[in-house]
Amino acid sequence: MTTKQRAYLKSLAMKIEPIFQIGKSSMSPGLTEAVSEALEARELIKISVLNNCGDDPRELAEIIAGRTRSQVVQVIGKKIVLYREGKDHPAIMRIGVMGGTFDPIHIGHLLLAEFAYEDFKLDEIWFLPNGNPPHKKTDESKKALAHRIKMIELAISDMPHFKIDLSEAETDVHSYTYSTMQKFNRMYPECEFYFILGADSLFAIEEWRYFKEIFPTCTILAAMRDDKDVRTMQEQISYLKERYGAKIELLRAPLLEISSTTIRKRAAMRRGIRYIVPDSVSNYIKEHELYQTNEFL
Ligand code: ATP
Ligand code: MG
Repeated sequence: MTTKQRAYLKSLAMKIEPIFQIGKSSMSPGLTEAVSEALEARELIKISVLNNCGDDPRELAEIIAGRTRSQVVQVIGKKIVLYREGKDHPAIMRIGVMGGTFDPIHIGHLLLAEFAYEDFKLDEIWFLPNGNPPHKKTDESKKALAHRIKMIELAISDMPHFKIDLSEAETDVHSYTYSTMQKFNRMYPECEFYFILGADSLFAIEEWRYFKEIFPTCTILAAMRDDKDVRTMQEQISYLKERYGAKIELLRAPLLEISSTTIRKRAAMRRGIRYIVPDSVSNYIKEHELYQTNEFL
């Protein structure tokens, strides 16, 4: 159990009452069975050790945990908290994760996020900007990263269910999607993750480093893009499901022929980008004179 998981379970345990008491006769086979059944039903339980019980609560906790295949979350005074993950553990939160370069973020990204949020009944969407590749660590690229982040913040500022996660942006090592998603699963065991991507990413996914490791960590929500129609998408989805046991759903969002590349090009040609990006982003691009040359296309 990670420190985060333990902290989370401890906070939940504060709100529950003990459902068993261990007294003078200490442990009995009946008690083990009852505790095990209770864990099956509610995963997290509290047990009170009464004053007339001669055994040490910590030792008792270890014994019961061993017999019920559960974990000791904590022992406070004479209270024992045990946890055992249920077989069909219902996720408490459903999180959509949208990875990308967001150079800059545009309404294609936002629309995908909003449709995923609505249609898959997600609780939050986390925008996950990637950092700079290790060979691109100049001052210029650091500035560009700060701009990318700022523009995401501006674009999502009035959407409380949209968040930004800087796990990949703030690290000096290159982040792989599988490892970030594994980290999220470890850090937030109460969450179920949905990775949102466009068709181009779905068709390129086998080229991603350690891509097979991504599949157990999330359900992929794949949106159509460019020339990929529903049939082509469904074929690719079936192929990845059968070959790798991936969980993938088609995300039906309006098709928008928009990319960050187009926006950078238009900006470099001094053409307008209004309506392709939120006004706040378009103003930011103007104010900071971003994408004024063809250098980064
Ligand atoms: P660039 O042109 O620089 O590659 P981009 O518009 O493709 O930028 P990314 O940051 O590369 O944006 O994309 C992040 C994710 O969003 C990817 O999974 C991509 O497929 C998806 N995406 C971006 N734009 C669209 C769009 N218009 N329709 C569907 N998916 C999109
Ligand atoms: Mg792209």
